Amino acid sequence: MNQRALVEAAWAMLPKAYVPYSHFHVGAALLTADGEVFTGCNVENASYGAAICAERTALVKAVSEGKRDFQAIAVVGGRDGVVTDFAPPCGICRQVLAEFCGPDFLILLAKSPEEIRVFRLEELLPEAFGREKLSE
Ligand SMILES: [Zn+2]
Repeated sequence: MNQRALVEAAWAMLPKAYVPYSHFHVGAALLTADGEVFTGCNVENASYGAAICAERTALVKAVSEGKRDFQAIAVVGGRDGVVTDFAPPCGICRQVLAEFCGPDFLILLAKSPEEIRVFRLEELLPEAFGREKLSE
């Protein structure tokens, strides 16, 4: 799957976001190592801390279906579902991605299907705390 197709899969999730509080819609599309795509949107809650981001929604869907190996994730977002800028993953999502994804996992941010910025996970979460730290 090419980068643009993964971005478009994330974009298609924007209308599904449940965001009555922030009105900031986010869509994500996670590409597994074997080429399957799991999508997600952000789901807010009246107890704000119970909200879950689009990236984690996609990851939890994939892991719950037995997937453990991933190539890339595309993320798009914007107020009222209108994308005007890049929407990088929050710190919690970077940490959760690092649980399953290596330093070369790709994070695609887009503000249009043509304007895509690509980062390696290691760039967005340097010096990550991971499970190897618990066994030292
Ligand atoms: Zn997040």
